[in-house]
Formats: sequence, structure tokens, C-alpha cells
Amino acid sequence: MKKMKKDIKNLSLEELKRHFIEIGEKPYRAEEIFRAIYKSKIFNFYDITTLPKTLRDALDNQFFITSSELISKRKSSDSSIKFLIKFPDNSLVETVLIKDTAHGKTRNTLCLSSQVGCAMKCKFCATGQMGFTRNLTVGEIIEQFLLAEKIAGKINNIVFMGMGEPLANYENVKKAIEIITDNKGRGLGKRKIVISTSGIIDKIYKLTDEIKSVKLAISLHAATQEKRDYLMPGLRNYKISNLFEALKYYNRKTGNTITIEYLLIKDVNDDYKDAKDLIKLLRTLKFVKVNLIHFNRVAHIDFKSSSREKVFAEILKKNGITVTIRHSKGEEISAACGQLATDKNIATKFKA
Ligand code: SF4
Repeated sequence: MKKMKKDIKNLSLEELKRHFIEIGEKPYRAEEIFRAIYKSKIFNFYDITTLPKTLRDALDNQFFITSSELISKRKSSDSSIKFLIKFPDNSLVETVLIKDTAHGKTRNTLCLSSQVGCAMKCKFCATGQMGFTRNLTVGEIIEQFLLAEKIAGKINNIVFMGMGEPLANYENVKKAIEIITDNKGRGLGKRKIVISTSGIIDKIYKLTDEIKSVKLAISLHAATQEKRDYLMPGLRNYKISNLFEALKYYNRKTGNTITIEYLLIKDVNDDYKDAKDLIKLLRTLKFVKVNLIHFNRVAHIDFKSSSREKVFAEILKKNGITVTIRHSKGEEISAACGQLATDKNIATKFKA
């Protein structure tokens, strides 16, 4: 029977070194491979010409470097790019590149997916309406990054804000971060990475202790338990009071500011009392800021965007809270917050 090839990107540098020792190869070869894949973006073992031919044969027999197909690449007028990527089991995920130009410099931020679909069923979110299919592997998370960087150039920041709840796929997300930040490979700074979670409490404690300098954003969207249970039904077992205990722990241990994401939805969470409830919660945290997010149109979801963004922001500001009103980029290509959902009818094929 033909042996199934494995994704080499699932292996950390240390694991790859151990593998080479086991097969009687020099462990420094692992560093050559890491450099070739993550720095030089070489996706074929036979193109890694520093390796002896016998080793290239052996690697090609056992592993693959990339496995996905880029189904489409859509660009919006604000230069955001949405990639639709298909994995061999026909799973589709979206990855979004956001371009920000300030002071003559362009910064690329990549919004990565961590799952196919999502189990949290948030009422305002297109991904939540898809249901959950599976976790992405370490290699599949990294592959989105490699493809985007190969096509669009250097990525400056990563946000785990694409499809899925990253902390529900904690171990794979953690290992993908370990590999992308490894100095022997791509070496992206950990402080350039944001994990955005709906609030998986035990994993916030774990992340604080284990991944340390990555930044944390919380999709809160409601400041009372009742309203949050309505908007985010998959989070019912995670109480707001316990979530804020975990956030205090993160503040204390890392000294990092936590970003609270709050989507303003007309007549749902945008009145004076909502703002006051939010302020009360935020006062329990030492380092915190709020992103008020404009609600983007999503098919089959009845919510409307609020016109009270400025009023809501003013109430927070008057109470000493740092707040930014964020109009998501990429809305016209459904690449903005809460709009990611794989549309199987997207037909335009794109060759990388
Ligand atoms: S908002 Fe985040 S956690 Fe909620 S359903 Fe969408 S992807 Fe999942």
C-alpha cells in the first residue's frame, strides 16, 4: 500500500531535527529546510538545492510542503485581498490581507482562519451560520500565511480573526505561532500577533502562561450575561464574570493591553445602558481599550448597523476608556469582521 505523505509544516524545528537524527541525517539540515520553506518560500523539495539529492528524494517520499489550491483572490477598492483556499478534503477557508498605509508606509496585516466553520453560532457572524466542520491543522494554518506572503509580499502582522474560534483549536494555533515566529525560519515577532477570541476562559489562562507576548482581543459585543447569551449562544457556559477574572490575570501577568471588540448593532446593544454596563465591566481591567466595530451587512442575518457609534464612543471616552471606531476594510468583498463564510459558488480560479 502506498504510504500517505505528511505535511512537513506540522513539525516544529526541534521535531524536524529529531526526525533527521532518527533517520541518520545531520540535524542542521532541519534548519536549511526551515529557511528554505519559511524564508525563501520554496515549496518543492527538489528546489532546495543545498540538500543532497538523496535527502531530497527521501523528503519527497515522505512529506509535502503545500497541499492547498487557491480558488480565488478578490481585491476590494481599499486594497484588501480575500483568498479562498481549498484543502485536499475539499474544506474551504478564507484568509484576508488588509493593507494599511500611514506616513508613506504600507503595513500588511493577515487575518488567519483557525477552523473550518465555527461552533459558537454567534448570531451576527457569517462563519457562525456555517456550523463547525473541523479544526485546521498546524500546517494548514501556516499555509495561509505562506501563500499570502508569497503572493502579496511581506506580512507585518497576523490576527487570528478569520474563520473559527482560535482558542477552540488551541494546540494547533500555539504550534503554528511557534513555527512562524521561529528565528531560524520566518521569525515574525510574537508581539506582531493578535489572538482574537470569543472568550474560551481556560485557554486564556493557558495562553497567558504559555504563549506570553502575543496580544489578546476579546469579541465581547454585550456587557450583560443575558444579552451575550442571546448574541453568542455557543458561549453560554462561559460566564462574563469568569471571563473578566481571566482577563485580569492576563493583564497582571503580561502587562499587555486587551482589546475589547464591540460590534454595534441597532437596537440590540447600542443604547445608553449598554454603554454604562460596558464601562462598569471595563473598570475592572487595568490595561484595556475598545474597538467599536461597524456592523457589516451579512446575507440572511437581519441585524442592522447602528447610527449611534459616535454617541456610544463619547460615553466611553467621558468615562476614561480609550476607544476607536473601526470601519472594517474589505466590506464589498465580504472580507470584513463577521463576514467570512466560504461560498462554494465562487468559481473564478486564480493561479498563484
Ligand atoms: S464571531 Fe467568532 S466565535 Fe462567533 S461564530 Fe463567528 S468566528 Fe465563531
